[in-house]
Amino acid sequence: MKRIVLVLLVVLVGLIAAVVTRTLGLHSRQAAVAPVAPEPLDSNALAQRLAGALRFKTISYQDSTQFEAREFDGFQRYLRESFPKLHAVLKLEKVNGYGLLYEWVGSDTGLAPVVLLAHQDVVPVEPGTEGKWTEPPFGGTIAGGYVWGRGALDDKGSVVGILEAVEHLISVGAKPRRTVYLAFGYDEEVGGRRGAARIAALLATRNVRPEFVLDEGGALATGLIPGVAAPVALIGIAEKGYVTVELTAQAEGGHSSMPPKETVVGILAAGLTRLEHHQMPRAIRGPTADLFDFLGPEMPFGPRLVMANRWLFGGLLAAGFGATPQGNAMLRTTTAPTVLQAGVKENVLPSTARALVNFRILPGDSAGSVLEHVRRAVDDPRITVRELQETVSNPSGVTSANAEPFQLLARTIRQVIPEAVVTPWLVVGATDSRHYSGLTPNILRFVGAPIGPDDVRRVHGTDERVGVQAYANSVRIYIQLLKNAAL
Ligand SMILES: [Zn+2]
Repeated sequence: MKRIVLVLLVVLVGLIAAVVTRTLGLHSRQAAVAPVAPEPLDSNALAQRLAGALRFKTISYQDSTQFEAREFDGFQRYLRESFPKLHAVLKLEKVNGYGLLYEWVGSDTGLAPVVLLAHQDVVPVEPGTEGKWTEPPFGGTIAGGYVWGRGALDDKGSVVGILEAVEHLISVGAKPRRTVYLAFGYDEEVGGRRGAARIAALLATRNVRPEFVLDEGGALATGLIPGVAAPVALIGIAEKGYVTVELTAQAEGGHSSMPPKETVVGILAAGLTRLEHHQMPRAIRGPTADLFDFLGPEMPFGPRLVMANRWLFGGLLAAGFGATPQGNAMLRTTTAPTVLQAGVKENVLPSTARALVNFRILPGDSAGSVLEHVRRAVDDPRITVRELQETVSNPSGVTSANAEPFQLLARTIRQVIPEAVVTPWLVVGATDSRHYSGLTPNILRFVGAPIGPDDVRRVHGTDERVGVQAYANSVRIYIQLLKNAAL
């Protein structure tokens, strides 16, 4: 008996020693760089120009016949007037109507170019919510230290911010060694097939092989990561895929006075319930594993110990992190029933019931594996399962956080915001950058505007805005990035 206790004690001490050793052995992954002096910029003038850009209703509607060419024409004219030096120096091509491709030709054509992406279009304001805005959504107002309006964060702040950076560099006499492309699509919010996809295809025909592509997708998260007080620069190194699956139950219709034991409504509802109860597996892998590797060393001892010892606490960590919808989305392919249709009259049995379920696919899974999972989980031959082919977009490749482009962006961010903790990140939405996946393995998704707990709902929601100083800092990051990468 004594012996068993002794053995257990030794094992326990060994375990604790191993856990503590791993925790203490966790080294910071943050680049050691000296901060640069803040680029002298007139933040009020920057805010004014951004505000002006927000006044154009460059809205992407699901129904493309609603496309308002006049708004896009006006927006593009505004860009020409606002950035005269850039338009005098850079080559501009219009691609498929309203796609904008600028080329700032470098002196060393042996260097692979860099491509900065953003999109000109914005989502509509949800009908009925216009009155809830503090400032009108397309007013382009500056008030209380913010620039207000649809597109301030997503994504005109990037379009105009990138142009500001180049205009500034030209005005101080900068000339790039490496060619820089600026590529602005105009239908990102509805898939980017007319804009970004066409620009990427054009670059492919010219054999352009970028050193890296930078797009939106990650941000400077402030107060969003428990245990890390510093702003966390989330660089998206991958994005999830997308597929919508249709489930259909069919049977004889008839009079609701004599219903069969099981109706199509009941059959389909039971299938959906089984699907919700059998989620795709949860795992800490890929970009999310990288996130924990980079965050761990910056955290207090307790959480650091958990991050460092995922061999022991991985299950616990996944359960805790996955408890919120945001955390859950980082750990698995998510299941979201979105459309349910059956019946036309309250006393008629429907012969068909149909549901659409939207899946966001984790890197490592695929549309095919999702379909297989759905068939297995629903497990009812009376329910037909098929993917909506036109919705399929498989997850992106994963950009290496060890490769030079990621490291370059990480250094850049810490030069401008020295206190920032930089980390890889999985983007759970979709961006235009996926159309560039054939051109380069190095796709980075980051915008330097800070996103706080209060801001997440503003993107695509009410009261979208960006701080005047915060926006100026995001322009400083673009400037520093161009200096580091291309000048
Ligand atoms: Zn966007």
